[in-house]
Amino acid sequence: MNQSTETHPDITSSAYISHDHTCCIDNALGQAAEICQKRGQRLTPLRKQVLELVWDSHKPVGAYDVLAMMSRDQERPTAPPTVYRALDFLLEQGLIHRIASLNAYIGCHCPGHPHEGIFLICKQCRTTQELPDSSAVVHLRKQAGSTGFQTHHALVELTGLCPACQEQ
Ligand SMILES: [Zn+2]
Ligand SMILES: [Zn+2]
Ligand SMILES: [Zn+2]
Repeated sequence: MNQSTETHPDITSSAYISHDHTCCIDNALGQAAEICQKRGQRLTPLRKQVLELVWDSHKPVGAYDVLAMMSRDQERPTAPPTVYRALDFLLEQGLIHRIASLNAYIGCHCPGHPHEGIFLICKQCRTTQELPDSSAVVHLRKQAGSTGFQTHHALVELTGLCPACQEQ
């Protein structure tokens, strides 16, 4: 077997270290297919394509970025509502997260179990890393609840500089 000797980084902490990103994409698409099959949901070619485009890099992409990428390799332009519906489906299935401050989407590393993410967002290059442990969000929800507040949506964003941008 002619396997690459390069070791695959821990996919939950790979955004800030150099790695073979095709592994991330393959892994994400594989997990998505498995999850949709288990739940009896259809990962249509369009939904799969949108997921793949969201996973194009570790930088969050807006709906119009996805549209632009789709029009790039298609003759017929895709209608914005089609893309929004696909993004909504992926969000509902927990395959992607929406970064509110950037109005953009990012692929989830561990979509198998529903969770609300904690994200590290580089202000300079926008490379975004989801923390593998999101238990702090559960804690925040509990604390909010103790004040009588009813939390609908919780997603924590930490902004700063990634290791590469700190060196510049
Ligand atoms: Zn990657
Ligand atoms: Zn996630
Ligand atoms: Zn950066």
